[in-house]
Amino acid sequence: METNIRLGISACLLGQTVRYDGGHKLDRFLTETLGQFVEYVPVCPEVECGMPVPRESMRLEGDPESPRLVTSRTKTDKTEQMVHWAKSRVAELEKEGLMGFIFKSDSPSSGMERVKVYNDKSMAVRKGIGMFARIFMEHFPLLPVEEEGRLHDPVLRENFIERIFVLSRWRELLAGDAGRGGLVAFHTKHKLLIMSHSNRHYQEMGRIVARVKQIPQAKLYEEYGKQLMDGLKLRTTAKKNTNVLMHMAGYFKEQLSSDEKAELLEIIDLYRKELVPLIVPITLINHYVRKFGQSYLRDQYYLKPHPVELRLRNHV
Ligand code: SF4
Repeated sequence: METNIRLGISACLLGQTVRYDGGHKLDRFLTETLGQFVEYVPVCPEVECGMPVPRESMRLEGDPESPRLVTSRTKTDKTEQMVHWAKSRVAELEKEGLMGFIFKSDSPSSGMERVKVYNDKSMAVRKGIGMFARIFMEHFPLLPVEEEGRLHDPVLRENFIERIFVLSRWRELLAGDAGRGGLVAFHTKHKLLIMSHSNRHYQEMGRIVARVKQIPQAKLYEEYGKQLMDGLKLRTTAKKNTNVLMHMAGYFKEQLSSDEKAELLEIIDLYRKELVPLIVPITLINHYVRKFGQSYLRDQYYLKPHPVELRLRNHV
């Protein structure tokens, strides 16, 4: 399948044998399922910064806020080597047009959060960030990032994938020079999706769009883009989705018979109680959107935020 979505990824997750022990950490969801829709840009910080395979294992030591990267047995400090390489690698990655990054959890180089940091008594606290992951996230603060372990949680998985698809459309808009009108159209189609994550961000973005003629275009896009990526980071919940579903049901007040209305509300309520997955009310609403040619809802990305083949809304 053709795709314009490029994601950075810790190379061992693709099955590359780059780990300290010569092994890999192949993740089949990432390679076989998500891999059909994205193109991966593999990065192995330890190998790319000049370490061999196999090599001595490493760990973070010292202050969890700015730890050192040290080999476990011989205590060789690799911090400078890693930081020097990482700074030039993130600058290079700017040219790759990445929409996000999937990190290998628990790694002192690649872990995104809760990596063990050891003190001088060899006691560990799970408060660290892998050395490359930290430099990457500081360099690309708005890019969606996740770890392979967290992507096994269906809510976090959908959240991450939704964000990369939204970012891809946002970048397309920025590249196309669609002007102020382009921003208004983008906002209109993403309204319900944003609402399903954060009503506060939805309101704020509405205020930004309302000032579309008063703010210089570059500032307008910058402010909107930041709100967009910050808002979508917040997880959807059954309660937030139920609000959006009820809002959509309101569009069919005139067309549905009382029996159809009752059935729709019943199904939304079953979803609210987490007895059926989100895909069930969404499928019924999509059916009515088609049947009645409801153009505002038809254009809402909320109803088709990512490829159905990913089956992201099939969980309860
Ligand atoms: S976790 Fe990171 S540093 Fe370690 S093997 Fe995988 S990609 Fe390389």
